[in-house]
Amino acid sequence: MASTREFRPRSALARLLRLPGRTAVPTYETDRVGEVPRRDERETVFARHDLHRYFGKGTPEFTEYYGSHQDQLEIDTEIAGMPGLASRAGDDAHMYSAVIASIRTLAADSAVDGEPAPSRVEMAPARAALKVKEFAKVIGADLAGVGPLRQEWVHSHVGRSLGNHEGFERWGTPVDLRSHTSAIALGFRMPDDLVRSAPEFPVLLATVRGYGLGAWVSVQLARYIRHLGYSARAHHVYNYRVLAVPVAVDCGLGELSRAGFLLTREMGLGVRLAVVTTDMPLEHDDPVDLGIQSFCERCRICAENCPSGAIPTGAKTESNGIMKWQMDAESCYRFWNNVGTDCSICLASCPWTKPATRFHRLMATLAGIRGPHQSLMVLGDKLFYGSGGYRPGPRPEFIDAPTSNPSTPTPPPAGESATGESESAEPPTAEPPADEPTVEEPADERRTSVTS
Ligand code: SF4
Ligand code: SF4
Repeated sequence: MASTREFRPRSALARLLRLPGRTAVPTYETDRVGEVPRRDERETVFARHDLHRYFGKGTPEFTEYYGSHQDQLEIDTEIAGMPGLASRAGDDAHMYSAVIASIRTLAADSAVDGEPAPSRVEMAPARAALKVKEFAKVIGADLAGVGPLRQEWVHSHVGRSLGNHEGFERWGTPVDLRSHTSAIALGFRMPDDLVRSAPEFPVLLATVRGYGLGAWVSVQLARYIRHLGYSARAHHVYNYRVLAVPVAVDCGLGELSRAGFLLTREMGLGVRLAVVTTDMPLEHDDPVDLGIQSFCERCRICAENCPSGAIPTGAKTESNGIMKWQMDAESCYRFWNNVGTDCSICLASCPWTKPATRFHRLMATLAGIRGPHQSLMVLGDKLFYGSGGYRPGPRPEFIDAPTSNPSTPTPPPAGESATGESESAEPPTAEPPADEPTVEEPADERRTSVTS
């Protein structure tokens, strides 16, 4: 059970003056127009890609899914035939696959969940919330917030099982997290110099750095809470049971943006997420209103720079009960698998994704105050940073130039594969060895944003 919030005079004053800051309800609530059904993870582009690379034609999962989603088969088959992530990185692909292999180990059910200790440590909810957030930061999180776990953000069924891999819940298993009342959202900064290279390979390293840290911290945090005698589960890449973006919004980390990412005051779009859910009584943080809905209405930089046209330039439209900027996940994901990275041009060109200097913190505060000056700030960003016509920054010296054609790196140690199924002589129905790292996308939360 969560505690009630105490009265906070500064939050109340900020709300009265409409300054960016804490607010009573998440900003998506003003865009709610109907019931929000729970999302089936099997319908995400990532889970559908798994049907091709792990299950394959003729398997019951493949047949059943496309029997009722025939309209998706053509695009999914096209994407499955593309080069894939890290395919243009040459031998640098091993940096990526090394992190992915470690994340997979931390994504097994035995790592993300477990039995709580038999006796409970009793703690005031405010004190408990302080401890879990500060502990998360000590072990590597850049942002940590606590909020309610709304059941509408819990997946209805499992879609990522690595092909029903041993140690993972099977494809289609119903998800039940009703006993968990609170969520702890964790944010991890993507290094600015790597982000600026988008859409080239270094940005993929920035992405997996965030997810690697997210896996490491969320697994330890959940374990800490279980040691205190409460149920707790880590949610990170390959084993999310919740939609990380709306959960992070509820926990006060930021707001949903036009680009479909969580946009934070501290890091803009350059942040990756992990979550821990629990039944431990925790005091909840207020969500934030940073003025992002108003800013994104005036700014279309991400949409104008998007090479696949996946981000809408117009107004919000209704999607599963929420008015939002509905991005085209299939167009975006197709571009990823063609270019060989998770692109991230939208993220790199966003005016909020800036280094954490005093100047940029001041600008973020100004940008969050609703008004016509927000349009001027968009113009200023285009003029001073060139964000209106995005160009990648320099590649870090240690990264090789991209290969012009998709390539396979030199062989990794015996028993491992740097390019996963694309390197295998076996059809994609073959179950990967337990220790085989596969090069694949880790960026789940982008398209699991509010009801997408
Ligand atoms: S990641 Fe690239 S393709 Fe996808 S929405 Fe962003 S800019 Fe567009
Ligand atoms: S680039 Fe502009 S419109 Fe896109 S998410 Fe950032 S602030 Fe919003």
